[in-house]
Amino acid sequence: MKPIAIILFGSPGSGKGTQSKYLVEWLRIPQISTGDMLREHIRAGDPIGLAIQERMRAGSLVSDDLVNQLVFERIRQPDARNGFILDGYPRTPTQAEEMMRLLTNVGAGEVVIHLVVDYNVIISRMSGRRVCPKCGTLYNSVSRPPKVEGVCDLDGTPLVIRDDDREQVVRERLVQYERQTQPLLEFFRAVNDRLIEVDASGDRPEVVFGRIKSELKNLVRK
Ligand SMILES: [Zn+2]
Repeated sequence: MKPIAIILFGSPGSGKGTQSKYLVEWLRIPQISTGDMLREHIRAGDPIGLAIQERMRAGSLVSDDLVNQLVFERIRQPDARNGFILDGYPRTPTQAEEMMRLLTNVGAGEVVIHLVVDYNVIISRMSGRRVCPKCGTLYNSVSRPPKVEGVCDLDGTPLVIRDDDREQVVRERLVQYERQTQPLLEFFRAVNDRLIEVDASGDRPEVVFGRIKSELKNLVRK
């Protein structure tokens, strides 16, 4: 069978991390994160890492060429021979075009999974989050409320909202995500019929994953 290349799109709060983990376990393929790869090179201080740091100091983005090269090297490693999940890549239609060429080169077939969510649901979910500033326990007014409203179950400390979870911040992140992702989704809608759109708003993660699995099985059968 052809190696499968899964490209997963999901907004902040869509549960993308969890679905990615489920896919890794189910398909036994690695998740390849371009962000992690860039950080690893910086940590190692190798020539690629130094080049990345130089660009970041100058305030510019890492070039498409470099990112493409890193991905290309990574997907030829033995652990990726049955497939892989791409995380944080492609970010632009230009990267997407190059990615299609890379995948043809390694003989992999791509499947794009888009976790479709209702932004109002995401906003209410994320703005319902509270954290204990003392022990770090997370609560959610809907899915995991504390026993006594507003205080930590473990130590009675008053709960706070993290800056990241403030409604305005969540809205801005969603707008930013939308701006970046729309052109990519349009790209994939135009070039292939292997785009799976899964409703990920209201249900538990296992239910959402069930939908992903059956859609993937349908595709493989085609
Ligand atoms: Zn606490």
